Amino acid sequence: MGFFDKLKEGASKAADKAKDSVEVVRLNSQISAKRKDIEKHYIQIGEAVFQANLSHDLSAAEPAITTFSEQIVALQQEIDELEEKIMEIKDEKDCVCGKVVPIDTKFCPSCGHKFEEAPAAAAEGTEEPEAEAVAPASSSSESPQQ
Ligand SMILES: [Zn+2]
Repeated sequence: MGFFDKLKEGASKAADKAKDSVEVVRLNSQISAKRKDIEKHYIQIGEAVFQANLSHDLSAAEPAITTFSEQIVALQQEIDELEEKIMEIKDEKDCVCGKVVPIDTKFCPSCGHKFEEAPAAAAEGTEEPEAEAVAPASSSSESPQQ
């Protein structure tokens, strides 16, 4: 690869990195907004229980508990998805113990968990048969050519 190609590649990689970190910041702010929403829902559940207790009828809080609990579960799922996206961008994966490690990690440095090699990652960029690099002599080589 020529010098300028390398230069160009380096520049576009840097641009990709910058774009990635902007994306990660964006995703992280979405996550913290959702976490705040979850806290709000916890407070709403608490208020509903408090009011119901004041009126000596805890069952009055049930509709609120159900509604806000469902919203919390949905928000948690959305947060999980956003966190997965971030890990994809950063080429990371999470261990069973919760530790986040680089995508090519084989053993968790925290708990020693052995990662099964992902077939997609294993096949990528290792061996590429260069069968087409050497073209077989064409059968029409007998054609007169001086
Ligand atoms: Zn681990």
